[in-house]
Parts: sequence; structure tokens; C-alpha cells
Amino acid sequence: MTDNFDTSLDSAKKLDEEDCLSHFQNRFHIIKDKIYVDGNSLGLMTKESEKSLLRVMNEWKTLGIDGWWEGQQPWFYFSEKLGEMIAPIVGAQPEEVVATGTTTVNLHALVSSFYQPEGKRKKILADELNFPTDIYALKSQILLKGLNPAEDLILTPSEDGLNLDEKVIIDLMTDEIALIVLPSVLYRSGQLLDMALLTKEAHKRGIQIGFDCSHSVGIVPHKFNEWDIDFAFWCSYKYLNSGPGATAFLYVNKKHFDVYPGLAGWFGNVKETQFDMSNEFDPVESAGRWQISSPGIIGVAAIEGSLKVILEAGIESIREKSLKLNAYFLYLVDELLSNSPYNFSIGTLRDPNRRGGHMALTRDEYSFEIFKALREYGIVPDFRPKNVIRIAPNPLYNTYQELWQIIQYLKRIIDNEEYRIFLDE
Ligand SMILES: *Cc1c(COP(=O)(O)O)cnc(C)c1O
Repeated sequence: MTDNFDTSLDSAKKLDEEDCLSHFQNRFHIIKDKIYVDGNSLGLMTKESEKSLLRVMNEWKTLGIDGWWEGQQPWFYFSEKLGEMIAPIVGAQPEEVVATGTTTVNLHALVSSFYQPEGKRKKILADELNFPTDIYALKSQILLKGLNPAEDLILTPSEDGLNLDEKVIIDLMTDEIALIVLPSVLYRSGQLLDMALLTKEAHKRGIQIGFDCSHSVGIVPHKFNEWDIDFAFWCSYKYLNSGPGATAFLYVNKKHFDVYPGLAGWFGNVKETQFDMSNEFDPVESAGRWQISSPGIIGVAAIEGSLKVILEAGIESIREKSLKLNAYFLYLVDELLSNSPYNFSIGTLRDPNRRGGHMALTRDEYSFEIFKALREYGIVPDFRPKNVIRIAPNPLYNTYQELWQIIQYLKRIIDNEEYRIFLDE
């Protein structure tokens, strides 16, 4: 980074003045008296989401069942419409993406379809740092095939417990691997894996690969088609700001539109004949075939508004500001908080190409108590054991001054040992 940062408040103010995305803050419901840097767990509500949600509530009130066909955005096609809207920011064709299910359910739907153990090739390759739900789901998928997770799930080890080495992953791509499932960005450290490289190496060895992009869609641009990844899935409530437990997304490369869904349901049927109510399932030739049930239209509606705001800002501008916010925060930690008695360090890799949207602030001692002391000051980060305080500045609603402020609070908490009051709790 060539940015000339300095540690003064004036410098933070100047960065905010020069920020061409700063007006997007008005599009959100900002929580009063809080510095909210937890958008990688639950993004804040956009005013647009509130609007699209209220519109659909009103359609339900006034149209009843007819909303499926006569809503402003007919509910029957809502999931496909959202897939079409989000496709450009993940580098996919419109028919390759659909809003459906939830993250873990989509993982099950895709892995049950793409994991076809055969002969010697019967293992799944994943990593030991992934979000636990992914690991639980993969183990159960292995059990469903009558195999043994203890032998057939290979977890790429991490040397430092925070980051992964792509070379180690590639070395594990042996001729015993039937499928690879990895995260795009690691939820604890914020490392961004090289998805293009991993996909290329997997395909060279005849292995299909899918990614959990929950921690990257909406903050990091993706090029699924160009990289030729086989499938992906992600949630909508983190950087996509679509509300708690919002409907998730899945992507399937169009070359796989003939794969039979492992968890079939009537919403995966061709639209034109879905209401013929035939007992013969006729899966549509698009990512839509992996849908299972009626979409939860109330939840789906919120996504429309939040996607509008992200598309308006542009994913490239979002990424650019995200990297700069993070570079600024890393700079302040290095300058002001790395020496004794502060002793903070950063678990996130320094190379901007290997970073997602959040940073892992670590400290050997009292990190949980320091996190609690931050919360007392109205700072909302989150904490992941054993010692990671996650700071996720969202380019659409966070400011450089807020990051400057967080650093001052951290300094004060250590200077006055304010974390001590939380020690006996
Ligand atoms: C947030 C997240 C999930 C959450 O799963 P749900 O099924 O939506 O509760 C799963 N995997 C990863 C990598 C995540 O970051």
C-alpha cells in the first residue's frame, strides 16, 4: 500500500472527506452511539431492505395467494430474479445463481449431488479451520454414503491455527479425493484463499471443487466462471446485509446443469410444469434445480433492497475502500498498539490479495476481557476463541474516524487496565 497514513485524528477526518462511498452511510439504519464493526456476522439494515420488505408484506396483506403471480416482483420468480441480480458480483451467468435455502442446507444440497465416491476416489478434502457447521455437514454426507468420516474426511492442517498454505492443500489433492470443499475467506483470520489456483490444480487432477463464500460475497469480487469453479454457496446476512437468517444463495457452473439434485424438491422443477403436480420430477436446467421448498418470501424480499445498494456502490469500489480501511487499521495497530504494554498483533495476512473483509486482532492475554471492555464503550466487534477480536469495517457504513476511535479505546483499556473488572465474571 502506498497510502501515506499518519496517526492523527485530522488524518482520519481527511480520509473520510476524500472517501467517495461515504454518502452510502445514509442508506443504512445506523445504530445510535455504536461503532458497528460486526458486519461480517450480521450486516446492518439498509433502508432499501426495509422498503422491499414492507412492499412484500403489503402484497401479502392485499393480494394473498395472488402475490405469487401479481406481486411487483412476482414471488414465484423471486429467487431466480435475485440470482440474476447478484450474478455480476460473483462473475456468473444469471441462470447459474439462485437465492434459496440457508448456507448449511445449500452445502448439503450441493455436496449430496457432487460427492459421488467411486472405487479408490472416495474422500472429501476440506480444512481444519473452516466454520464448524461445514465440517459437521461434510461428516454427515460421508456417513450417508456408508463411509467413515474418520478416514474419508481429510482436513488440511494449519501451521499457526489461523491461516492455510495453498501448497499444503494442493499436496493433499491425491487420487483418493472425490471432492474438495473449502471456504473463500477463513472466518477467524480473514485469509482469502486463491480460488483460481486451487480450482486449476483440482481440475488438473480430475477433482471437482466447491467453495463456501459466506465471508466474501459482497466484500470481495469473484469470477466464478473465469476460474471455472464447480459450485459455491453463501449466506446473505453478513456483507450482503439481508437480515438475520436471510435466505442464502447457491451457484452451480452451467456445465453441471445435468447433475441430478441429491435433495430434490418441487421448487427445482421446470416452472411451466411445476403445478401439473406430476409425480415425475422434471428438474429445470439451471441452478434452480437445487431449490427444494417454497422460498420464504418475507426473507427473500429483504435481499432485493440490500442488493440494490451494493450494486449501486459497485463491488470494485467496495473492495477498494475495504482494503484501504483495513490497511489504515493495520497501520494504526502497528504504530500504536504493537509494543509493550499493548502487545496486540494481527493474525490476518498482510498481502492485500490474501485478505478478505475483516481483520483478526490478537493478544496473548486478556483478549476476551478486552473485547468486553470495548463493548462497554459501544464498540461492536466480535470474539472468536481463543484470542481473536474480529474487526470488520464495512465500506458502505464505517468510517476511518471510527477505526481511529477504536484504537484510542484499545489504548485506554490497556493503559488503565480496564479489562480487569471482567476477569472474575
Ligand atoms: C456464516 C457461515 C455459515 C453459517 O451457516 P448457516 O447455515 O447460515 O447458519 C456457514 N459457513 C461459513 C463459512 C460461514 O461463514
